[in-house]
Amino acid sequence: MARVISVANQKGGVGKTTTTVNLGACLAYLGKKVLLVDIDAQGNATSGLGIRKADVEKDIYDVLVNETPIKEVVMETSRENLWIIPATIQLTGAEIELTNQIARETRLKNALQKAGKDYDYVLIDCPPSLGHLTINAFTASDSILIPVQCEYYALEGLSQLLNTVRLVQKHFNKNLRIEGVLLTMLDARTNLGYEVVDEVKKYFRERVYKTIIPRNVRLSESPSHGLSIIDYDPRSRGAEVYLELAKEVLLRGK
Ligand code: ADP
Ligand code: MG
Repeated sequence: MARVISVANQKGGVGKTTTTVNLGACLAYLGKKVLLVDIDAQGNATSGLGIRKADVEKDIYDVLVNETPIKEVVMETSRENLWIIPATIQLTGAEIELTNQIARETRLKNALQKAGKDYDYVLIDCPPSLGHLTINAFTASDSILIPVQCEYYALEGLSQLLNTVRLVQKHFNKNLRIEGVLLTMLDARTNLGYEVVDEVKKYFRERVYKTIIPRNVRLSESPSHGLSIIDYDPRSRGAEVYLELAKEVLLRGK
């Protein structure tokens, strides 16, 4: 069965989508079969992999609200071994529509269970909130990977995130655990970044990945070309570090 990992932090702009897309692409590069699940109405993971909204017939909304099987929704990407369940703006309504539906928290879990044997890894790109969509992601997951941006207030809001984890553990998924904490967008020219690294390590200790993602302009350019970093610029620092992260994730999974 696939290992299912949610990439989550309810803060926006911390590197969730960048990490989902590039970690996924690097795991695929290393020979794993990877399914990305875009569960954010902004659809940044979808467009970042070059999928045009006009080409999407069914998306994650159909899986969650209409119980459409995953096989009917999965799309190929330009990278071998990497697939995606796309999201479109249609997903905006799901947060409200799910409120009145039966077994709303387990929709994604049920859908993935039927497809889990087709993949080695499933990575879920969570929205910047802790609503029904994120609860669905956590209920369906083995673990959570938390990107933390190396900026002031890095730890702010993480207690709410951890409360949501505990809530899901209590009611829907007792085996859920923290996969790891990933420091992102480190600016090597400032002391602040390193202070945040120390602070986050004090709090999360060995759960912090050794790999730290620096600011790298190629990482911010690649989505506009519809490519992951290893397809856009395999020699960039960004490609190197996400490949390192992928190897660390594989090791931890053993
Ligand atoms: P989130 O999904 O948490 O909202 P994103 O992954 O979309 O965050 O990142 C926010 C913005 O920062 C995007 O424009 C992205 O291209 C950029 N970005 C993310 N990681 C890096 C990085 N390591 N170096 C430079 N830019 C980055
Ligand atoms: Mg995002």
